[in-house]
Amino acid sequence: MPRLEDEAFEKSFAQFCEVKGCVGVGNGLDALMLSLKALGIKAGDEVIVPSNTYIATALAVTYVGAKPVFVEPDIRTFNINPEKIEDAITEKTKAIMPVHLYGQPCEMDPIMEIAKKYHLYVVEDCAQAHGATYKGKKIGSFGDAAGFSFYPGKNLGALGDAGAAISNDMELLAKIRALGNYGSDYKYHHIYQGNNSRLDEMQAAFLAAKLPHLEKMNCERRRIASRYLNGINNPNVVLPYVIDDVSPVWHIFAIRSNRRDELEKYLNENEIGTNKHYPIPMHLQECYKDLGFKKGDFPIAEEISNTELSLPMYYGMKDEEVDYVIDKINQFK
Ligand SMILES: *Cc1c(COP(=O)(O)O)cnc(C)c1O
Repeated sequence: MPRLEDEAFEKSFAQFCEVKGCVGVGNGLDALMLSLKALGIKAGDEVIVPSNTYIATALAVTYVGAKPVFVEPDIRTFNINPEKIEDAITEKTKAIMPVHLYGQPCEMDPIMEIAKKYHLYVVEDCAQAHGATYKGKKIGSFGDAAGFSFYPGKNLGALGDAGAAISNDMELLAKIRALGNYGSDYKYHHIYQGNNSRLDEMQAAFLAAKLPHLEKMNCERRRIASRYLNGINNPNVVLPYVIDDVSPVWHIFAIRSNRRDELEKYLNENEIGTNKHYPIPMHLQECYKDLGFKKGDFPIAEEISNTELSLPMYYGMKDEEVDYVIDKINQFK
């Protein structure tokens, strides 16, 4: 079957991300999982992931049979703390998966330095950060591979599930493509026991049409974020901290408050929709009880779970709407 739409989108998305190539897959989880699989990560291996992220990051690791090793975030940025990574490295560590959570770029220089020192792969989880930059360079272009999700709610969203892996290593990408196509390199010839995870032609066509507007949509989010950052001054609220020399894309505008639940109820009563990202940290999820963690094992991730609140943030949000949220938060006593 011809896959003209896929090819066109892959080419333009690779260009947008400043990398050599892109492979469209079925969703973001598969993009991460197939990248790990293509790098040869398997049972017995360990992969470092942040203790504060969406569950998909850890699921990609456990799907290939490897063990996720959680490393605490910097509470100010919500992202993995590079200073804590080295302590988590063992003989079995094969890769680090930085997650550019909420659209905030991770500190890629120290992360890449550690990876180089210990000969570890880096697979970036870019599902929330399409187009964000670190020191002027697009996220996703630092590691060996990166996974994106185009789930409708993401910064670049399709009409249904879709995802992509990007890399500068064309051989690795060929392997990811084969792994997502029944392990086949050409028709009815199967070199791997692959999955079925292809980018739907219709989603690809939609994404290709939307991609030229991504920069503009991200700029809108930046404008909303700076209005929030300049306007909110309630001492009960901690605003998100942006590290130097990055350009976040504000997938989520995450504040923290010791009175989070009260604040959430108050905002909801004032018809302001909020969310929590995420109410239960991964190490306390039912599905990972076999990892043997208990409450208190990752206090920073737990603190974020208990205090984080996501404010309305979407392309098309009007200044009056942003100001209404700011006023209500500032009036919260
Ligand atoms: C959405 C998301 C994913 C998974 O993407 P899907 O397309 O839903 O499979 C992975 N990691 C993070 C951080 C996400 O937010």
